[in-house]
Amino acid sequence: MNYQRKRILFYSVLAGLFTILLLLVSISLDSSGYQLVGSSPTPALIPHQVDAQIVETPSQAPVEDYTFALDKPAPSLEIMPEPPLQEEPKLPAASTVTLNTYVPIPASPSALAVKGAVQSSTRPTPLPSKISIPVLNYHSVTIDPGNVVVISPAKLEEQLMYLHDHGYTPVSLTTFISLIEGKDVEAAPEKPVLLTFDDGYIDNYEQAMPLLAKYSFPATLFISPGMSDQEGYLNWEQIKKLQEAGWDIQPHGMTHPHLPQLSADQQAFEILEARKQIEEKLGTKADVYCYPYGEYNKTTLKLLKDHGFRYAFTIEQGNATNQQSPYLLKRLFINGEEGLKSFIRKLSAHD
Ligand SMILES: [Zn+2]
Repeated sequence: MNYQRKRILFYSVLAGLFTILLLLVSISLDSSGYQLVGSSPTPALIPHQVDAQIVETPSQAPVEDYTFALDKPAPSLEIMPEPPLQEEPKLPAASTVTLNTYVPIPASPSALAVKGAVQSSTRPTPLPSKISIPVLNYHSVTIDPGNVVVISPAKLEEQLMYLHDHGYTPVSLTTFISLIEGKDVEAAPEKPVLLTFDDGYIDNYEQAMPLLAKYSFPATLFISPGMSDQEGYLNWEQIKKLQEAGWDIQPHGMTHPHLPQLSADQQAFEILEARKQIEEKLGTKADVYCYPYGEYNKTTLKLLKDHGFRYAFTIEQGNATNQQSPYLLKRLFINGEEGLKSFIRKLSAHD
């Protein structure tokens, strides 16, 4: 029986020890989870502490960097690049994605296109490539059916009205020269046109002047002063009236000669005497010539150049442009027998 008692006692002691061991183990498990937190065993505290630690350490550096960046640009430039450089390599790590999306280079052509657009829009055009102005060539304004150099006052007014209603701006000779020389381009009217009248017929004063005055259109008149006393031609008094009305008076030879048939001296007289008389009578510059019959030769051109003429008009058909010789400016002949449609076609056919 003693032996049995001892066994019972041994097992009971062993059971007690085992119980104590279990208790100790359970206690140790509890302490790892909640013991340190103590009274508030909310698991949220642990993650919060961890977050706080993670946030605090990196947040301090960037925040300071930003303050530096704002206050002291120079040091910030040295500090700032470091974090991006450490982080950026992480982006290339996903290289297959980024490369695939950026490799197709759709950006560079569009960028080039934009650059081109910007360049073309902002680039100040150094020289306007071509300046083209229609110069209408009238002669007599009266009623003379069958005569192509004569236009009826009614037809002339129809054409003036068309110019007025369709945005054309008849300009003075001075303005025309400025435009053809590329000056005052900003002030240029949208559709400049120069109205010229050749020979100095008296009907220019009687018929054309009041019609042009009605529309406030200036004009340029090429006269042959040697004809001024002849019947059907303007006298000086009328020429002055035209000048006062905004007409620019320029030379057309003294006697409306066929210049190429004349000697150099004769040509010089025709050209220079006409200019001299106009300048003396009207107190104006008369250095823009108009070839009678549109005829000229090398001597004519040399005379004009040597004596400082600035421009000369021919009867070659087309607009006057800055790409033509200044002594060979083209004009558009107005055929008095043609209707408004051909006038409109003529105006828009050339550029
Ligand atoms: Zn003529």
